[in-house]
Amino acid sequence: MELSHIEHIGIAVKNIDEAIKYYEGVLGLKCYAIEEVKDQKVKTAFFKVGQTKIELLESTDPEGPIGKFIEKKGEGIHHLAFKVNDLQGALDKAAEKGVRLIDSKPRKGAEGLNIAFLHPKSTHGVLTEFCEEQK
Ligand code: ZN
Repeated sequence: MELSHIEHIGIAVKNIDEAIKYYEGVLGLKCYAIEEVKDQKVKTAFFKVGQTKIELLESTDPEGPIGKFIEKKGEGIHHLAFKVNDLQGALDKAAEKGVRLIDSKPRKGAEGLNIAFLHPKSTHGVLTEFCEEQK
């Protein structure tokens, strides 16, 4: 498979407005988009550093994936997302090599991207996302 770059790093936060203050006020980044992804029960805020984005994730539902993550582990890095050219192809290749997939088919993520996750049990503890531009 071909990974072109780290598309974004997903960071789970309790309060997105407070977290934005840190990224803007301390790190001097600019939040350029806030978007709710109903599918994943999250509100997201985006920053750009070079060609990599920081994606802040606040849960909109304690039963959602980010709500559960924060309850178990607290705030922090949640996932690493690689940009791929062919998402379905990359998923199929990973599965062939014995990697456990959370999503065997692409689904819609924020920012007009198709996304899919690999299970952290198969990736040495890092929840890994592949994403591609919607075609
Ligand atoms: Zn992501």
